[in-house]
Amino acid sequence: MSSHAVVIIGGGLEGLSIAAALTARGQRDVLVLERRTTGSGGTAKSSGLVRCHYDCATLTEMAWEGTRFFERHPGLGFHQTGHIVGVGEQGASALRDNVAMRQGLGVDVAAVTHDDIAALWPGLETKDFAAFAFEPRGGHGDPVATCRHFAQAAQRGGARILEHTKVAALLGDSTRISGVRLVDGRIIGARTVIVAAGAWTADLAAQVGVTLPIGATREPIVIAAPGAPVGPVPAFTDLVGMQYVRHERHGRLLIGSHTGAELTTPDGYLNKATDVELERAAAKFTTRFPAFPDVVFPQSYAACYDITPDLTPVIGPAGPEGLHVAAGFSGHGFAIAPAVGRICAEMVLGLEPPPPDFSPARFTGQASLVTPTP
Ligand SMILES: Cc1cc2nc3c(=O)[nH]c(=O)nc-3n(C[C@H](O)[C@H](O)[C@H](O)COP(=O)(O)OP(=O)(O)OC[C@H]3O[C@@H](n4cnc5c(N)ncnc54)[C@H](O)[C@@H]3O)c2cc1C
Repeated sequence: MSSHAVVIIGGGLEGLSIAAALTARGQRDVLVLERRTTGSGGTAKSSGLVRCHYDCATLTEMAWEGTRFFERHPGLGFHQTGHIVGVGEQGASALRDNVAMRQGLGVDVAAVTHDDIAALWPGLETKDFAAFAFEPRGGHGDPVATCRHFAQAAQRGGARILEHTKVAALLGDSTRISGVRLVDGRIIGARTVIVAAGAWTADLAAQVGVTLPIGATREPIVIAAPGAPVGPVPAFTDLVGMQYVRHERHGRLLIGSHTGAELTTPDGYLNKATDVELERAAAKFTTRFPAFPDVVFPQSYAACYDITPDLTPVIGPAGPEGLHVAAGFSGHGFAIAPAVGRICAEMVLGLEPPPPDFSPARFTGQASLVTPTP
């Protein structure tokens, strides 16, 4: 039986960011176990938006840390297009407060007017918006390239990454974790096990009696071929139409939705938009972007969020001593991934306490939800 100081289950963005951060802080005895290939889970289908628009100050700070990380790593495919959020009358006051909160944390963000938006995104239909916020340093990045970057950094630091290596079970008892068992029966011992297995995390944690309300929701993504050049417009989060739009390759646009998504299982969902979803996305897009009368929607796919009740991740110790969780990123784990690595490494090495906002205790009535109205 081999044994390691830290075993990380899941070779996605978060698991590999944690592995890289651990080795950077001197913990070289790290083993990452990935059942398929690195970055093949939620990471592979991420829209990669980078923006700091959160109610939770800790998440805002983490996304700001991520923004500066991507600025320092231009080879990772970060397109710094800027990012706009638009809200209707109901959300205007909250957005103003949110801009002030972000500015107070040092984020480069400003409230902008309808005229500003007309200049930033020509042809956008804005009459049902009441307020906007613009982050000039936001944009979108390449989650798979970023994941690869963390994998290489972790390996350079001494970590081992085993692909096609599925964990069947966590080992230990209710007091102490002792390692993992692989599907081929091999046992790997560990003082610390970090479950960073995205939408698969809750099932793994349940094996040692840890209940985590991390569900999997199916999210359709639709690609638009606008039929005319789009120009250098920012990424745009439309909280009236509940959609987001950003540049995609070959002059196309990627459209995601912010709808009450359907619960699914991470291994068995329809990997394309249904006709209804396609029609809904097309209707919302053409209403918001009337400047593209020749738009067609040639492609779609679906992905899976690992979602918590307050859309805020679970990061911290859970259940038996030695077990940690980093999951439930609820569709915003890309921008914060560099900070997740740092926070988890510091927590596991005893350099910093776990962040209270992300404690699993908030779901058991021992603490309040971070964002009761996410
Ligand atoms: C459609 C979509 C759009 C998104 N858009 C954005 C965005 O615009 N901005 C943003 O910040 N974030 C976004 N995100 C969120 C972000 O991409 C994710 O939070 C992040 O990529 C998740 O990384 P992860 O490592 O937690 O999970 P994953 O990438 O899912 O990695 C978990 C890994 O664990 C492995 N695994 C599972 N079970 C086992 C096992 N038993 N043994 C071994 N390995 C196992 C899986 O194979 C997988 O590779 C989006 C996500 C999706 C799905």
